[in-house]
Amino acid sequence: MKTSGRLNDGVCSRCGGRTFILIEVETYGNGLKHVRYLNKCRVCGNLSTIEELMIRRNDSGLAIYVKK
Ligand SMILES: [Zn+2]
Repeated sequence: MKTSGRLNDGVCSRCGGRTFILIEVETYGNGLKHVRYLNKCRVCGNLSTIEELMIRRNDSGLAIYVKK
């Protein structure tokens, strides 16, 4: 998996500080959700994206699209 290394290191690429995982969810009106998994540095606030997903709810259930 391409993201496993970045998920677990927990260290800011800019300053070396400790990071935590932030999950942002944006909901659009038509049943579409945009979910972003981010690493955020506790020291300098640097954000790096781990993964982005688009989730669409439709008649047959959920469809998930991975953006990167
Ligand atoms: Zn940092």
